[in-house]
Amino acid sequence: MKLLETLTQTPSVPGREDRVRAVIEKHVRKLFDKVTVDAMGNLIAVRKPRPAKKTGGKKKPIKVMLAAHMDQIGFLVSHVSDDGYVRVNPVGGFDTRNLFARKVRVCTSGGDLPAVMNPGGKPIHIASEEEKKQIPQVSDFYIDLGLDGDTVKKKVKIGDMVVLDGPFNMVGDYAVSQCLDNRVGCWAVIRAIESLKHHDCEIHAVWTVQEEVGLRGAGPAAFGVEPDIGISCDTTLCCKTPGVPDEQRVTLPGAGVCLKIMDGSTIADLGLIEDVEKVAAKKKIKCQRGVLPRGGQDGAMIQRSRTGVRTLVFACPVKNIHTVTEMSHKDDLASYHQLLAAYLTQL
Ligand SMILES: [Zn+2]
Repeated sequence: MKLLETLTQTPSVPGREDRVRAVIEKHVRKLFDKVTVDAMGNLIAVRKPRPAKKTGGKKKPIKVMLAAHMDQIGFLVSHVSDDGYVRVNPVGGFDTRNLFARKVRVCTSGGDLPAVMNPGGKPIHIASEEEKKQIPQVSDFYIDLGLDGDTVKKKVKIGDMVVLDGPFNMVGDYAVSQCLDNRVGCWAVIRAIESLKHHDCEIHAVWTVQEEVGLRGAGPAAFGVEPDIGISCDTTLCCKTPGVPDEQRVTLPGAGVCLKIMDGSTIADLGLIEDVEKVAAKKKIKCQRGVLPRGGQDGAMIQRSRTGVRTLVFACPVKNIHTVTEMSHKDDLASYHQLLAAYLTQL
């Protein structure tokens, strides 16, 4: 869990993934034969087959691409006012109802600065009934660094990244943090490869950039890798919570990693899903199927690269997704990397 905590506490929004990439790179150097970074910033690690017995080297190995996006939803600074208030542009989808009264971190070239974020407008004590009902847009929020205008202008540049600031901790059976979407996927790929002894497939693990702004990094990476099989490693909704009808829960917490049947971007390869389910049954690892009517993930871009790629999606159920209180059940975290490793072993 220490690694997952470090990953969630390392700010990296779309286009600014260098910090989390450095953490991942440090962990995976010894696990792979070759580690490179492409022009967009995707981290690509290749591991040649490690066969249990010599095969004579004639059979071409199956090439598998794992893709885990390493960016998190956040903001880029768009304006600094003369009195030092900072305005931001979102990079990724926020529900503004979850953004009120937040502590944030403004990441500058001179270091990280603590700050608070609130929407412009009046406190309820002086607001009219009409004003109380309004839900603000992201553009209505401002960031207060508690410093005077001249100091803020010296320290903060247009384009600096801003992230919500929330701790990682265990709450009951759940890991709770910001950006479990998708540091969980990044973490699960590392844990799966760490546990792998033998495999006949050639593994290309890619920690991708800019997923949260429209799956931008995975396509170019897949074009370069030319995989036979693509596995998108991400998170998905878990709405087994009050106020949501059961038929819209998407996944159940604690029922194991979700093999996504479809979402708004991808219809997964059913044959591959059935293969993974057979491995799960044999190894007694929990997994569940899930359908998300909307949304997308990197698998869409792998599936549509070159002449098309057989693709499936591993997704960890996450309650309260895209908030600083994202929750993942410990059984779902464990089954994720165990099933991924078991599947890769037998490919
Ligand atoms: Zn995600």
